[in-house]
Amino acid sequence: MHCPFCRHPDSRVIDSRTSDDGLSIRRRRQCPECGRRFSTTETASLTVVKRSGVVEPFSREKVVSGVRKACQGRPVTEADLALLAQHVEDAVRATGQAQLEANDIGLAVLPHLRELDEIAYLRFASVYQAFESLDDFDGAIAELRADAGKAGDERIASAEGTGD
Ligand SMILES: [Zn+2]
Repeated sequence: MHCPFCRHPDSRVIDSRTSDDGLSIRRRRQCPECGRRFSTTETASLTVVKRSGVVEPFSREKVVSGVRKACQGRPVTEADLALLAQHVEDAVRATGQAQLEANDIGLAVLPHLRELDEIAYLRFASVYQAFESLDDFDGAIAELRADAGKAGDERIASAEGTGD
């Protein structure tokens, strides 16, 4: 790996550390030419098999563009989408699989999108899970309502806890 300062084509590893989640290795390097230090992060490559059978590298950009359609007209920012894609990548990497189906990515998107925006979630789920009838929507909405009730209780509990 080239030194980012002087472009010297070689560097020496002076320290190697595995991240807390075990998914990446951070190496501290030193350039033998200019003596400066820099870090590199190494992660396992992650590929996705599309429905067409084409294999391509996992891309957060693709996750964002897939979800962005479902978020049209919703109060979801580009920063929200970027964070969601980051969470999705963390979730799929945490499975420990080096190759995933496009479906697995969709599954990983659902819980995060649901936290972000329920309407966008319903749109995404209806396409991704191929909703066929109003009953499918009813089921998904009933689930959201049930969980919203629980979340409301939690909010009340934490408000009581922090009151002064
Ligand atoms: Zn250098």
